[in-house]
Amino acid sequence: MDPQNDILRLGLFGGTFDPIHRGHVDVGEAVRAHFALHRICLIPAAQPPHKHTLTAAADRLAMARLAVKGRPGWEVSDVELRRAGPSYTIDTVAHFKRRSPPRARLFFLLGSDAFLEFNTWKAYSTLIREVALIVLARGGCDEPSSAAFVDRIQRFMTRHFPPGFRWDADTGAFIHPETYPVYLFDGPRLAISASEIRRRIARGDDGRPWLDPAVADYIERKGLYR
Ligand code: ATP
Repeated sequence: MDPQNDILRLGLFGGTFDPIHRGHVDVGEAVRAHFALHRICLIPAAQPPHKHTLTAAADRLAMARLAVKGRPGWEVSDVELRRAGPSYTIDTVAHFKRRSPPRARLFFLLGSDAFLEFNTWKAYSTLIREVALIVLARGGCDEPSSAAFVDRIQRFMTRHFPPGFRWDADTGAFIHPETYPVYLFDGPRLAISASEIRRRIARGDDGRPWLDPAVADYIERKGLYR
């Protein structure tokens, strides 16, 4: 809880996490500090609507748990594994809203690559009325300058979001009178992706520079991605 006003600030970080890597945890840690979040909850998707995964959800959940074991301010939820059918964020956000205190502030973290497909997410125009978004700049994907990054996100929002959003440089967010803010976070840009890690492991590399050691051990023990 926030020592000043007792309002829970919770980050929800959904993803395939196939595998979870330093890009997720290090950028998430920077977000946690910047937005003064009490906790970030990793939520591995059971059936990601937009991605094909070969790795069992139980393995991806186990790796997420290992990556944040003993790390203060982090937790892992298996809510999407306990639900049948595609793992839609709108359902997951509803779950967390139901079980959070009434005045809790919820933030959903997603990388810019995911945000730039946001118009394909189920009920996305309802989702922005349910939860604040934090869009993460990604190393290797985004424009080199912060201004160009903001510009690209703005162009996407102009095409796909309801009219009326305006950029507020003080809060670092696009704001709208009827939705939650869409924050942009241009923190440590880490050019790490799960697909690149999978490719490297398939070629015989161990991926350790980008992985928590316990996750790397798990991958080796289970023979994943070979
Ligand atoms: P893949 O390479 O298979 O697409 P990924 O590395 O993007 O995987 P996901 O599990 O799909 O990993 O990512 C979960 C969320 O974290 C997504 O919103 C994604 O955009 C974001 N994300 C992943 N890697 C980074 C990174 N290095 N920096 C910022 N955000 C990231």
